[in-house]
Amino acid sequence: MDVMQLLVALTTVPVMLGLVIESASTVGIPTVIGSSGRPRSGRVVHYNGGPLTWGSHANCRAQVRQMHAYHRARGWAGIGYHLLICWHGVVLTGRGIYRVGAHAPGANASHVGVQFMLGGSQRPSAAQLAAFVALAAWLAARGVKASVTGHRDWNSTSCPGDHLYRRVRSGDWGSGDSGDRSVPPAPTFSYWTVAGVRVPTGDPWLLRGMRGTPVLRLQEGLKKWRPSLLPQYGADGSFGQETEDAVEALQRARGIRIDGVYGTESAAELRRALSSSASKPSGPDPLVVDGRLGELTAKAVQRALQVEDDGVWGPVTVRAMQLRCGLRGRAVDGILGPQTTRAVQRRVGLTSRAVDGIWPSVRAVSKAGIVTLNSGVVSQTTRELQKTVNARRF
Ligand SMILES: [Zn+2]
Ligand SMILES: [Zn+2]
Repeated sequence: MDVMQLLVALTTVPVMLGLVIESASTVGIPTVIGSSGRPRSGRVVHYNGGPLTWGSHANCRAQVRQMHAYHRARGWAGIGYHLLICWHGVVLTGRGIYRVGAHAPGANASHVGVQFMLGGSQRPSAAQLAAFVALAAWLAARGVKASVTGHRDWNSTSCPGDHLYRRVRSGDWGSGDSGDRSVPPAPTFSYWTVAGVRVPTGDPWLLRGMRGTPVLRLQEGLKKWRPSLLPQYGADGSFGQETEDAVEALQRARGIRIDGVYGTESAAELRRALSSSASKPSGPDPLVVDGRLGELTAKAVQRALQVEDDGVWGPVTVRAMQLRCGLRGRAVDGILGPQTTRAVQRRVGLTSRAVDGIWPSVRAVSKAGIVTLNSGVVSQTTRELQKTVNARRF
């Protein structure tokens, strides 16, 4: 399979989703409700009490907004559940798992309250049950214990209904009568076009275990932002460890919460980062090809490497240079020595006889890896480098 075929195959990967979680802002309720907390002792299962209409997913969100309004009318800070699961198998954020809940007196501060969006004699859909199971793994990774109880274990109530309560007691969420078996419609993902790529808006969230076009688009956006990300698998449409690391790199660089989940906040930051790099003047004048490594050439190389163009060649610049020139593993050490120089010389097209690992334009490299340039000297390596940068081939 050649590269083009591979590309076509990847872009038609269907959306196969593990767990879909929507943020409070997509649901349409406040992102901060009640006091901050850390319920981690387990989950308490609820249902709605009265049966709910199972319609479009927009209807699910509207129902959560109504619950929020109803709980507020009862004098609470807002919707009391931490999370809700609709019949489409989408997890909708209520208070979220960093707040104290208002779902079962005695368990509000310690347990995550999860509402199955059904009531009366309605039975959970297969997608709803699958989401409950997938949610357990996601919560476990955030320190929530495996314990599952029903609301009626805490208070005098019929909640979560006999059907769900049987499952609470048996621990069987996967087999047997799964109620409604209709296949829920795949959730819709929307995108922004920025800097020539289509970036997912972060709602629903993209997280580990997902596969498909939205993941592929995210990976393309991340690579556009920093080409050195996703070094092993590239944009392959599968959200694994490497993609999680890349999302965390974005979160770290932009100073937001680092959790490896691509949500609305991460999406806004990726969009901002891409649009600011796209709005920079597209092409400074071509470099004068004079073989001298002065400030203009140093900065142009940094722009070509997509690192900060401050003219200071430190370990970040050199590492990007090493990756660009094909070095891998331990050779990517941020130090501009003979091995890196040889790689640069090969990259800019010097004949094999001229590849000698010596670059007279480099005066010294400090212990911290800061390169002092010797701008007075003329070298063939620098001359070819200037030509390569001008041709946008470096
Ligand atoms: Zn309940
Ligand atoms: Zn839904």
